[in-house]
Amino acid sequence: MLDNLTQRLGRVVKNLRGQARLTDENISDMLREVRMALLEADVALPVVKDFIARVKEKALGQEVIGSLTPGQALVGVVHRELTELMGGASSGLNLATQPPAVILMSGLQGAGKTTTTAKLGKWLKERQKKKVLTVSCDVYRPAAIEQLKAVSTQAGIDFFPSTAGQKPADIAAAALDHAKRHYYDVIFVDTAGRLAIDEAMMAEIKDLHALLKPIETLFVVDAMLGQDAVNTAKAFNEALPLTGVILTKLDGDSRGGAALSVRHVTGKPIKFAGVGEKLTGLEEFHPERMASRILG
Ligand code: GDP
Repeated sequence: MLDNLTQRLGRVVKNLRGQARLTDENISDMLREVRMALLEADVALPVVKDFIARVKEKALGQEVIGSLTPGQALVGVVHRELTELMGGASSGLNLATQPPAVILMSGLQGAGKTTTTAKLGKWLKERQKKKVLTVSCDVYRPAAIEQLKAVSTQAGIDFFPSTAGQKPADIAAAALDHAKRHYYDVIFVDTAGRLAIDEAMMAEIKDLHALLKPIETLFVVDAMLGQDAVNTAKAFNEALPLTGVILTKLDGDSRGGAALSVRHVTGKPIKFAGVGEKLTGLEEFHPERMASRILG
């Protein structure tokens, strides 16, 4: 994950740590290297520009120049700014509502919504002893409903059946009613994704949102998509009041720029990262730890 970025920034950091004195010249060299490393990792250009400007301002400030170990202080600035870029503090799922807490899953087809639904359900069941129900409103792909059933069973959580002949809103209403009557703590509503952003898909999920009033509306996105991940995140964020993002496939051969751009572009926290196909392949997203990992 993010190997290239880590290698490049690791080199910069190593060079800097050894610097007893910082000059305009070696600060510029460092910023150029960082800029290139970020662009190569597919971080969106406006994000890179903003990041570099912030580091530069602080690098030239007293905190760094006046420090006894300026190289080290500058590494600290880069670390803090990276953490900030990815959202500062980590934030888990918000379930603070009258149960059942409704969690609406959104994203394009193939992003990992169904897998992530089961991963999160398993997480809540095992770590927080929650009673979890899942339901699929994907009436366009019967296989998607079957898939949710299979992964829910594998995760040890309950599944509310639906069929391709039903309307998504009817499925959602029936599932919510079932969840209320059977005292579920959490209900995950998986939705239909398309291969690309599509008006009908957006209209449908907006209707589901209005009906369900979810406490969490999560956007699931494939980190391997790079810039496209950022564009898709922007579109969903404009259409829906998202409460968080889940980046999937961070275990893959991704350049990882999405992890650094998505928060900046949407203003919404990255709550979890998918790091494998198995249902255990889920990590809480900690910006601070991620920054440490990136800097090597
Ligand atoms: P959906 O269409 O959005 O519901 O996507 P799926 O849940 O069906 O996932 C699409 C594919 O991505 C499946 O083959 C999943 O196994 C795979 N997948 C999902 N999350 C991850 C992840 O974090 N890492 C890896 N390597 N594969 C994932």
